[in-house]
Amino acid sequence: MIRITDILDKITDYHPEADLDIVERAYVYTARVHAGQVRLSGEPYLSHPLEVAGILADMKLDTTSIAAGLLHDVIEDTHATVDQIGELFGPEVLHIVSGVTKLSSLSFHSSRARQAESLRKMILAMADDIRVILIKLADRLHNMRTLQFHKSGKQRQIARETLDIYAPIAARLGIYWIKNELEETSFKFFQPDEYSRIKILVAKSRPEREKYMETVRGRIQKKMDEAGLQAEVLGRNKNYYSIYNKMVSQNLPFEEIYDIIAFRIILDSISHCYEALGLIHSMWKPIDHKFKDYIARPKPNMYQSLHTTVIGPFGERIEIQIRTWEMDRVAQSGIAAHWSYKEGRRIDENISKKFAWIQDLVDNQKNFLDPGEFLENVRIDLFQDEVYVFTPRGEIKTLPRGAIAVDFAYMIHSEVGNQCTGAKVNGQLVPLTYELQTGDIVEVITSANHHPSKDWLKNVKTVKARSKIRHWIKTQEKERSTSLGREMLEKAFRKEKLNFNTLAKSEKMAEVGTHFGFKAVDDLVANVGYGKITPLQVVRRFAPRQEPEEGQASIFNKIVGRVVRKKRLKAGVLVRGVDDILIKFGKCCQPVPGDPIIGYITQGYGVTIHRTTCVNALRMNPERQIEVEWNQEITETYPVKIRIISHDRVGLLADVVGSISKHGANILNATSETSENKMVDSFFTIGVEDVSHLEKILSAVKKVKLVQEVKRVG
Ligand code: MN
Repeated sequence: MIRITDILDKITDYHPEADLDIVERAYVYTARVHAGQVRLSGEPYLSHPLEVAGILADMKLDTTSIAAGLLHDVIEDTHATVDQIGELFGPEVLHIVSGVTKLSSLSFHSSRARQAESLRKMILAMADDIRVILIKLADRLHNMRTLQFHKSGKQRQIARETLDIYAPIAARLGIYWIKNELEETSFKFFQPDEYSRIKILVAKSRPEREKYMETVRGRIQKKMDEAGLQAEVLGRNKNYYSIYNKMVSQNLPFEEIYDIIAFRIILDSISHCYEALGLIHSMWKPIDHKFKDYIARPKPNMYQSLHTTVIGPFGERIEIQIRTWEMDRVAQSGIAAHWSYKEGRRIDENISKKFAWIQDLVDNQKNFLDPGEFLENVRIDLFQDEVYVFTPRGEIKTLPRGAIAVDFAYMIHSEVGNQCTGAKVNGQLVPLTYELQTGDIVEVITSANHHPSKDWLKNVKTVKARSKIRHWIKTQEKERSTSLGREMLEKAFRKEKLNFNTLAKSEKMAEVGTHFGFKAVDDLVANVGYGKITPLQVVRRFAPRQEPEEGQASIFNKIVGRVVRKKRLKAGVLVRGVDDILIKFGKCCQPVPGDPIIGYITQGYGVTIHRTTCVNALRMNPERQIEVEWNQEITETYPVKIRIISHDRVGLLADVVGSISKHGANILNATSETSENKMVDSFFTIGVEDVSHLEKILSAVKKVKLVQEVKRVG
């Protein structure tokens, strides 16, 4: 187990003036709060943060990073609180430690290669300080070094995740030594059989290979010397994982993988690099498409080198990298090189360059045609403007910051958006206006009969959600208005013994349309539906005005003699968003004000109003359903049928009629039947103002002598 003094020594080596106080305090604190905890290896838990800090010191990072590395697990695994960390170590350390904790809370168990790229982006997006990622990598590296203490299932899972997520991040940040170690260890645990097979093959061919390496290295060195170039030529074995990858991806047996050895030439200046390249190409024939000039066009992680592959002295392929010493240093430590102490540079300057670096990373993206390159399609405002969330199946979706659950629903599918009624985030029910946070697991709840709401437009952030909602509303309004308009016109024309649908195709109708300012007859119809013009205005262009006829009263009404049918001037029901609509009340349920109601657009008429409990209404197509409400301003009477069961007696009917009239209700219809057992079953249709008016009448009739039961029908 590494000791704190070893770490302090390392720091002093690369930065003699470093203020070690914060590192020492972080050590004392972490030792105290982790006291008593043990790793699976049996070692005290403290060994883990110490090793992580040691790796960070190997990366030559600043003392803030190393202190944060020592503290990286205390929030998650001990009783230490966020406030304490902030108080003792300041906001910067707290920010980094919180960032690492937040990343640890992400669950990647469902990660698949397909979305590994998104996960990597997500990690970068969540870590608004690059040091969070460096600590996370150090953490993972130590965990991989101690993976043997886990059960084999867990080993494979962690190894897989490391290959998918962390090794590529290390590579893209240019920290190749971490990338290599992560890959080799993961490979060993993820595919133990393949790993040992390649290990044996490499070992068997070693003596031969070393002889070969020396031959080629010697020839390159000689060529450089002859040209008077100061150069160091290195040969190195490729790691097992990259050999394995090559065998799989190119479907080659081990014997045919020649470029197990790669060569590197390190020189003093850029011009010498190009000169060396020319010399190599004059010795051995280059393979055209394999040449890459990362000096002129650095990788996003600032990696620079010339890469070439040539046909070597034995007809084999040789990979050669050519670079300067400075480039070699950056290539070894990558982004970490920019965070470590450097001569004559203060750390603050580095901090201020943090976002500039990300900017470079993104700008340089344009130079890469390879679609596999990291951070592809990531926008410049990476950290500010996006949130990354999971579907319940573990897929990642990227949304603009401020996006709500409705945006997510539309991103899944337009229909999911149109029918969403609610959402669950991390298992908890949330309103549809919930603002998504990176890392949330979001599940949308839908219902087939549900429709988008205009109110959503106030909160949605994505273009897709906005345009889909608008489109739905427009289509609905247009469809509804056209259908209503047509029905209203048909009805109005029928009254005049005219057929609207026939006339609709006539020249005359087109003229009428033009008269009202519409290009097409359809627009005329829709505008009748919108209530902008009345059907009567249209009809009058076809037929002269006529006096309305008297309604016919039934024979029974004449007997009762109290029928006064009022001509309904204005509807007692409001249809949302539309006025001037023909309204009819369902005969099946006879709604009266106070009843909960619903409207249905009906063929050949405008809207029919039913009680929400009406069986006929429930059977109707929900597509034709329309929201309605009672119009409080209109005083009207509404027909309602009641049933009266009583014993037969002289004057019964007169008494019933009397009690109804006394309460100011008109009797519109009545039938009566006397059965064998002297019971009278009567049905009255009466005009009432509302539910309470009806209640009064029912209880009054109930008091009539010998009446057994009175109830509303339908
Ligand atoms: Mn850890």
